[in-house]
Amino acid sequence: MTAVVLHGRAAKTGFEIRQMGPPERRAPRNFAQGSDYIWTQEALFDFKLYSGTEEALWLTKSLLDAQTNEELGALASAYGHVVCGNRFDGGECSLISDYRDRVNDLRRLHDLLQDGHFSESDLPPSGLVYSPFSVGFSYWLVPSEGPRGFAPVLLTHSLYCFVCHEIISLALANRPLLVCKACGKFQRPTARRDSKFCSAKCRVAHHREREKAKILSNG
Ligand SMILES: [Zn+2]
Repeated sequence: MTAVVLHGRAAKTGFEIRQMGPPERRAPRNFAQGSDYIWTQEALFDFKLYSGTEEALWLTKSLLDAQTNEELGALASAYGHVVCGNRFDGGECSLISDYRDRVNDLRRLHDLLQDGHFSESDLPPSGLVYSPFSVGFSYWLVPSEGPRGFAPVLLTHSLYCFVCHEIISLALANRPLLVCKACGKFQRPTARRDSKFCSAKCRVAHHREREKAKILSNG
């Protein structure tokens, strides 16, 4: 099988949550005024991440779980921005609400694939197909140690495309990330297919809540 690789760029120097309000007078016009942005330094750190690895799994789970500005910012610093950012103040800025929309698209893809009701390929009347889950890869060669000295890879620079591919691969292999019934975070796919909790701690917490509810309802 041809390897799928994310060739990304990241700052890896942390992030700031910035508000592009009136005090930021130097902010270009295309910034949404008064909105929160994730700002990172210029991305100078090149990295490669292969599909199906532990780190790819960790990244997929972390993105699906990311709720707070801080969690989104930390991922932008480590792996680059999920949405195209504006250049600003020696770095890159992306609108947090755009970022959340993209992460919600990933969650929706995950849910659609679990339900068995995937219908995003319905053709609109115009005949044009647009799906937020369409992914683009380039076919490329990398040096390898085999007898021929090269190997083909499917390469993308887009974190979003890469994570879409991870979610689809997990669903195809029937190893989806399941949601924990107690904390609502995604579980690792090594858990059993019917696993309800991400940890023993969450299992205990859930049962305690249920007992409490029972006592209350019995008055
Ligand atoms: Zn949990």
